[in-house]
Amino acid sequence: MKSYFRKEIDALAGYVPGEQPKMADLIKLNTNENPFPPSPRVRGILQNLDPEELRRYPDPNSDELRDVLATMYGVKRANLIIGNGSDDLLTMIFRAFASPELPVVIPTPTYSLYPVLAAMQGAECRRIELIPDTFTLPGDFAARAAGANLCLFARPNAPTGNSIPREWLRNFCAGFDGMVVIDEAYADFADDNCMDFATEFPNVLVMRTFSKSYALAGIRLGYAVGDPLVIEGLMKLKDSYNVDRIAQKIGVAALSDREYFLERCSEVKRERARLVRELSALGFTVIPSQTNFLFVSPPDRDAAAYFAKLRSEAVIVRYFPGEASTAPFVRITVGAPHENERLLTVTGRIYS
Ligand SMILES: *Cc1c(COP(=O)(O)O)cnc(C)c1O
Repeated sequence: MKSYFRKEIDALAGYVPGEQPKMADLIKLNTNENPFPPSPRVRGILQNLDPEELRRYPDPNSDELRDVLATMYGVKRANLIIGNGSDDLLTMIFRAFASPELPVVIPTPTYSLYPVLAAMQGAECRRIELIPDTFTLPGDFAARAAGANLCLFARPNAPTGNSIPREWLRNFCAGFDGMVVIDEAYADFADDNCMDFATEFPNVLVMRTFSKSYALAGIRLGYAVGDPLVIEGLMKLKDSYNVDRIAQKIGVAALSDREYFLERCSEVKRERARLVRELSALGFTVIPSQTNFLFVSPPDRDAAAYFAKLRSEAVIVRYFPGEASTAPFVRITVGAPHENERLLTVTGRIYS
């Protein structure tokens, strides 16, 4: 049959999310989900939910959630937009700032959804290779980025786990003639962040998600902070009711339980430190991680074999064989203590 799709869509391979296998007794360390449950206050919201409320549309702008976040960051409601996950915000951002006339620039490897969204817009996506094995920025990044209308950095980066230097990024934001999006999906596990750039620079958006650090990947909730004019522009192109009632309430409840949140983040960081120690002792190369996952290369650099052996033992991690720079590595989500134990036992058996 003749295709009625736009040529950009026909040419698109589509984003491939990490698998969500249904097998029992699986150790699932492949999509950076939180190993701990969300705050008990989230359970409270769900238990007290009155289905009658669901007759009504939700608040189109998620104002209560925006106000809680505004207080938390010392910004205004007008500095915030809420998304149905940060992926929803990324869709809005690409629709707003990328087109055949308006190119996008990203470092690579990074979050593999960015080039897919650029392709949907028919926008050129200029990929600037990070330096192999350290995954740091090449010195001429800014010069090569010039002329693009949109530049995205995941900071900390995925799948590598490390962060580009904060002061370098501040200079970049000041000098780049286009929008800079700083995707801070993992910032709660990091030593620093760039949230202050969102109000310091009119051309910067900083994005966060509830999916990783708040253990709420299943409700789809994220937000972006930026200049009120930029936020207003994005509001024009979002779905009218992009965040459902339940998600809005759950977000407010999760944010109210700061103590629980900080304790769970510390636990993930403690487990991360243990994995770094033990995998390094086995001869793995471990990229310094600011996230809830590790990007590691086994002693023989045969990541494909390591991935397959783990899988045969029901331990699922993520492997990105597509690019030469990522092929010797696997990405391992920090799990619960017993899951990490199992990973280490199996790994020890393979490489001892
Ligand atoms: C997980 C992730 C996202 C997506 O977050 P959602 O809120 O679940 O859509 C965005 N960016 C990066 C870098 C991520 O790792």
